[in-house]
Amino acid sequence: MSLLAGHRANRAFAPSSNIAQLRESATIAVSARAKALRAAGRPVIDLGAGEPDFDTPEFIRRAAQRAIDAGATRYTATEGILPLREAIARRATEMGGDVAPAHVVVSTGSKQSLFNACFCLFGEGDEVLIPTPSWTSYYEMVALARATPVPVYGDAAAGLKVTPSMLEAAATDRTRGVMLNSPCNPTGAVYTRDELAALIECADERGWWVISDEIYRAISYGNTPATSALEVAPSAERLVLVDGVAKAYAMTGWRIGWTIAPRELASAMTALQSHTTSNAAAPSQHAALAALTNREAADASISAMVAEFRRRRDAVVAVVQGEPDLEIVEPEGAFYLFARVGEDDPSRDDGARFARRLLEEHEVAIVPGSAFLTPGWVRMSYAAPIDDVIEGTRRLVRLWRETRA
Ligand code: GLU
Repeated sequence: MSLLAGHRANRAFAPSSNIAQLRESATIAVSARAKALRAAGRPVIDLGAGEPDFDTPEFIRRAAQRAIDAGATRYTATEGILPLREAIARRATEMGGDVAPAHVVVSTGSKQSLFNACFCLFGEGDEVLIPTPSWTSYYEMVALARATPVPVYGDAAAGLKVTPSMLEAAATDRTRGVMLNSPCNPTGAVYTRDELAALIECADERGWWVISDEIYRAISYGNTPATSALEVAPSAERLVLVDGVAKAYAMTGWRIGWTIAPRELASAMTALQSHTTSNAAAPSQHAALAALTNREAADASISAMVAEFRRRRDAVVAVVQGEPDLEIVEPEGAFYLFARVGEDDPSRDDGARFARRLLEEHEVAIVPGSAFLTPGWVRMSYAAPIDDVIEGTRRLVRLWRETRA
């Protein structure tokens, strides 16, 4: 009997209550499906993955190779090597924080950092406000911590962004925190300095924790980089900043993220991580150290990548501008186009139907908006070669016309 057949026949497994409600990550699932179709010979254009298509810059790769040869092959401190935490703290202090290495915990990707923060801060009976649409994993991480994710829907006329009064309207006496993300995945919207300051002030006044996911901060087409919570927060007493090297330095596979948080919370997250993954991979930490300390080379590669993302963003916008009735969020950062293709009615799930047809009939992979709790929309990533991006956008527009005919 094959292993697979044995697996199918296994009736012993029933999901535990921890994961009974868990949904698989739709962003990961779409890119896995696109890869599988390509491997099977279908010429699929993959605009699903939120992953830079550039190689990690050479100076970073070389630093990792040197570190491996010098013996960076063993466990490190759970919270990360000191030089990396020092470099992160230095950068954060330059942005206006008063940050010491003791505030920094390095993890296996900003996804783990977000999970650590949610798991250490929230629990049963707590509610967490999530400006919506938001990245699919926020909702699941809050729920895995047994807290309740509370979607706060943004205004479509304002880039689907939220305001303090929207947060207040969704708050109860059980509200414990709010997740912020600017530039935003999936919309590409960027909160202005004043908008971000107002949200953080609102949270501060009410004693909520703010988890600010700034993984796309360097990829911003207006004021580069976008404003950090550290620059505008009246106090860092209830602030967790999450960042990493994946997006700005094209280092998704190296899996390095971090949190900057008050000491006591940093200690709790370190303790949690000591029982799950321990330290992030040692060679990857040295690669991240090179990325953060070799300023000139890093700035040059970030500028080149952001310039290329901007070129693609402009190309996408030029294609969709020919369709004034196609509603989109003005993409100001990150590398996503968010477009409305139907109604925000979960029972119709127009976005999923659209994404399925785009893949099956037009061979373009995108992510349905239901992954971000906005089922009338779809997310297209333009972190792909520009010809693919332009062709993919044209096919998206063609299908949109067909669905309206
Ligand atoms: N953050 C990226 C995305 O939204 C990577 C995939 C994931 O980890 O969800 O596509």
